[in-house]
Amino acid sequence: MKISDLGEFGLIERIGRTAARDAKRVLVGIGDDAAALALAPASTLLATTDMLLEGVHFDLGTTDLSSLGWKSAAVNLSDIAAMGGTPRFCLTSLGLPASLTAEGVAELYRGLNACLKRYRTALAGGDTCRSRTGLVISITLLGEAAKGRAVTRSGARPGDLLFVTGTLGDSAAGLELLRARGKGQGARGREEEKKLIERHLRPMPRVSEGMLLAGVASAMIDVSDGLSSDLAHLCEQSGVGAEVLADRVPLSKELRSVRGFTRPAAEYALSGGEDYELLFTVPRAKLGRLRSLRIKATEIGSITRGRTIMLVEVGRKRPLPPSGYDHFRTVPRSTRPRR
Ligand code: ADP
Ligand code: MG
Repeated sequence: MKISDLGEFGLIERIGRTAARDAKRVLVGIGDDAAALALAPASTLLATTDMLLEGVHFDLGTTDLSSLGWKSAAVNLSDIAAMGGTPRFCLTSLGLPASLTAEGVAELYRGLNACLKRYRTALAGGDTCRSRTGLVISITLLGEAAKGRAVTRSGARPGDLLFVTGTLGDSAAGLELLRARGKGQGARGREEEKKLIERHLRPMPRVSEGMLLAGVASAMIDVSDGLSSDLAHLCEQSGVGAEVLADRVPLSKELRSVRGFTRPAAEYALSGGEDYELLFTVPRAKLGRLRSLRIKATEIGSITRGRTIMLVEVGRKRPLPPSGYDHFRTVPRSTRPRR
């Protein structure tokens, strides 16, 4: 059988089915934002790893190496944030093409270390090899959560309300601006355009929000593939459906003000990925506690009993199919690679 017949998620499911197990220590295994592992008595170890490949996840024609370093750390920190955890240690493994200079590697680590410092995470190790196929960056992030407090994708229940932090769609819109102009050109655009590009190149993972939400959110995932796809992952793992109110989905003033995009702003918010916001559910009984956290988050819908995900627009309701990228499907659902 070809991998393309299974698709990325089918393939991961197969790997999961044959995985060597340790049910006592692997509290959350394959299928969530990070693994939750029992090691010390009072806390849970969180572990996640993400690989970025030149030509698949990034293009050195649209990103500089410092931004690439920042983003490599940020996407992993975001997975720890999505578990409600505190990031602690980072390991970086690199495959370097012969054309990359020592200054280039220093640039990459300048951005990476700036991001790790911002989120109080230490660089503790890694691996370095020659690559014959372009730059490869593989990052592992280790973090912790208080025992029993890690927030999974699987805890959403019918009646819970659905929230998202910040705004959605900026990163995909920023990427479209970058592709039209090329690297460095972003600095010359209007302020609003620069902001969208910045959100694509240097995302800010919602680490403090994630930590505050532990104990309040019933389920959580970070928006890496796009709202429609990540909500589908959360619903699938929880065995529930959802209704999203289209006019509640938060758009930034920058996304609303820039003209000339190929698609309506709402589409970037629903299916554009790489926002690294947190999508989470809260039981109604905990809404007071959520408010007391004073997190910038918007209620965008609710969890339902059926398994379907519906988008409620003025006067009509339609299914909201996942639109994220699959690394192996022969006809990708979108052109933007997911991690
Ligand atoms: P995210 O987008 O949050 O990084 P992914 O979709 O990459 O999550 O991964 C989903 C789940 O599948 C995670 O639990 C991840 O650890 C697991 N996973 C992905 N690829 C593999 C693999 N080759 N072997 C084992 N587990 C994997
Ligand atoms: Mg994730």
